[in-house]
Amino acid sequence: MSTDAWTICPHCTKDAKKDINALYGTVSMEEFNAASKELTKVLEKENMRLDYEVYIDGDKMIVSAKAYCTECGAEATARSETPVKPKE
Ligand SMILES: [Zn+2]
Repeated sequence: MSTDAWTICPHCTKDAKKDINALYGTVSMEEFNAASKELTKVLEKENMRLDYEVYIDGDKMIVSAKAYCTECGAEATARSETPVKPKE
């Protein structure tokens, strides 16, 4: 499958946001700022790999895609087959 894009994993950002919220008020402002700076990096990190391909197999168009997070392992796959119809 061809690799073509990287994007931000929705699960990693969810955890990072939760971590920032959990820290607030429990550590010094200095520590909180340092930690949220680190977590902000996670929020901007494109760790979800998107592989996809589109091709014709017989009389069908195949669209196949997979998203996989290299950080937390979250994944999604999709595949569809659509008949290629002659123009009516
Ligand atoms: Zn992730």
